[in-house]
Amino acid sequence: MSEPIRVPEIFGIDVFNEATMKERLEPAVFVAWKQCVSEAKPLEMPIANAIAFAMKEWALERGATHFTHWFQPMTGVTAEKHDSFLSPVGDGKVIMDFSGKELVRGEPDASSFPSGGIRATFEARGYTAWDPTSFAFVKDGSLYIPTCFFSYTGEALDKKTPLLRSMEEVSREAVRILRLFGDTETIKVTASVGPEQEYFLIPRDLYDQREDLRLTGRTLFGAPAPKGQELEEHYFGTIRTRVSHYMKVLDEQLWRLGILSKTKHNEVAPCQHEMAPIYSDANSACDSNQLVMEIMKKCAAANNLVCLLHEKPFAGVNGSGKHNNWSLGTDTGKNLFSPGSTPRQNAQFLVFLAAFIKGVDEYQDFLRCTVASAGNDHRLGANEAPPAIISVFLGDELDGVVRSIIDGTDYQDPGKSTMRIGVDVLPSIPKDTTDRNRTSPLAFTGNKFEFRMLGSSQSITGPNIALNTIMAEELQYFADRLEGSKDFHGDLQKLIYEALSEHQRVIFNGNGYDESWVREAERRGLSNYRSTAECMPQYVSQKNIDLVTKHGIYNETEFRARYEIHLESYCKIVNIEARTSIDMLHKQILPAVSAYAGSVCATIAAKEAAGVSCRAEKALAAQLSENTDRLYDALTALEDVMRALPEPAKEQAMYFRTVVIPAMDEARKYADTLETITDKEYWPFPTYSDMLFY
Ligand code: ADP
Ligand code: MG
Repeated sequence: MSEPIRVPEIFGIDVFNEATMKERLEPAVFVAWKQCVSEAKPLEMPIANAIAFAMKEWALERGATHFTHWFQPMTGVTAEKHDSFLSPVGDGKVIMDFSGKELVRGEPDASSFPSGGIRATFEARGYTAWDPTSFAFVKDGSLYIPTCFFSYTGEALDKKTPLLRSMEEVSREAVRILRLFGDTETIKVTASVGPEQEYFLIPRDLYDQREDLRLTGRTLFGAPAPKGQELEEHYFGTIRTRVSHYMKVLDEQLWRLGILSKTKHNEVAPCQHEMAPIYSDANSACDSNQLVMEIMKKCAAANNLVCLLHEKPFAGVNGSGKHNNWSLGTDTGKNLFSPGSTPRQNAQFLVFLAAFIKGVDEYQDFLRCTVASAGNDHRLGANEAPPAIISVFLGDELDGVVRSIIDGTDYQDPGKSTMRIGVDVLPSIPKDTTDRNRTSPLAFTGNKFEFRMLGSSQSITGPNIALNTIMAEELQYFADRLEGSKDFHGDLQKLIYEALSEHQRVIFNGNGYDESWVREAERRGLSNYRSTAECMPQYVSQKNIDLVTKHGIYNETEFRARYEIHLESYCKIVNIEARTSIDMLHKQILPAVSAYAGSVCATIAAKEAAGVSCRAEKALAAQLSENTDRLYDALTALEDVMRALPEPAKEQAMYFRTVVIPAMDEARKYADTLETITDKEYWPFPTYSDMLFY
């Protein structure tokens, strides 16, 4: 038996969190830091020096020798460059030193990070600045300092800066609404996020034998195993020992880093699992999710497993996503998406709800773009994840309330006249509606919305920036209209009615996997962008540019830069996949099937010489040859289309989608057929059955 984990003792032990700061900082320094966080005041240098000193002493005690500014460039993963604390003192000796300046600001050589054209090559420098709202932590012998990353001219080159901006925006506008409902206490409203992370685990030795997995994170070939997920035995099934050991080690590492890992279970597909944390503020949830993905991979390596975060590692079984639970809460502890028990609380809830529905409808294309990626293209709309159409699920009770507002009819209680918002109490809305609609992209789940379209490998910042910004915009609209109102109740009623009735098309409570929904959505005028190449041009629509610039989330240059990077990265990914396909076909699959056909032919020759029947071998040889010829033709066609790539990113993305991917699919079709008729001894890499049912 291994030692039991004492969770309260290890939780957050590697984090320089508020409790540790309180313990280790002079009271005046601690207060200054708190003010800096709560009131966004700049940190004075003497304070920064004092914090840096305490942080370093603490980090040294925890075995750190280095520090690094840890940032989130637009690659979607994190970046770090480590400097040791050591500083020579003259007599051949060193001390361990760390200044406030080093804590607050860094200057990594940034020339190789994507900037989407923001930086001219002559000014490639980038700067990092400590985000004092995220805690520093120690990992692998280094003190990690979460930072923002920006250019010489001050443009954001990362994902954290716009997220922080969007959190401030939504907070300000939400507080304005709260004031209208008589809340004088709330100073700050925080966007909260709980991201559920799905992943696959497969044995390392099998992974190593597959070039496609190593280079692209997904299998580019592979006939379905005789068994798939049809028995539904894996979902919530018993966790096998090797995996449960992995999960235990993972939990411990996450807990040490103060990450609230809460739930773990097997998912629908064989070898697929999920981890859900307890929610936290959006900023730390995004930081934590980056760490979760990184540690999931490292932990797997230590257990001779590989963690696949790709959205679709295996064709024919479910892929992986991320459910982004999102809500707004006050610093006084109230969830703003919780229906209340008094008319006033209910009216306030309805403002937030109406703002959300209006915003999602108006900016559906923006939201759709934030979940677009080469990997996610395999999931959205493929009946394993929500369709590519954005809609909101409310559940029967809340939908009933919304309908009654739109129709001006009574809700449930026939004795009651039309419900007046802000005057009457809403019927109670149970927190956990049993009808958990799993096919909806944005589902109301009692006191939060679950955005279910995210891909498993993506950074969750983009979707949360969009949710916060959209919400800020709509709340601002409501606050502007209501602040000067002479007839608050009347105007409130009118505004909520208008928002809900004008945007009701985005509410859909039915089955999102149903083909009829696609037609219905089209009739309602909702967008349905099936792929990254189709939707991304909408990202930089004038409407979206106006939205993000108005709220200071991005300036136009920053926003366009993200678009460029997003498209470029899509093209690069499909390009690598196509090249890997070509490589595997030439060097592994074609030689294997030829060799096998050769051996079958040798058998035929031997049998004919012996004068015995070889009908089966001849049929097999014919089948092998036929498919090999076709495979060769498909490979040649793929090579041809790859030689004709258009230049501009937008055209190239569409070309990859409409020309290259179908050419890859065509080649795969023959390769997978050949796999099913080729002797296993000849097949050059592990099959789906080997990997998924090891
Ligand atoms: P459900 O049963 O509706 O899925 P859970 O309580 O299991 O609800 O929560 C699912 C996820 O939603 C968890 O990651 C949880 O932390 C997160 N969550 C719960 N409340 C909130 C909230 N107010 N804001 C953001 N995320 C939340
Ligand atoms: Mg889930």
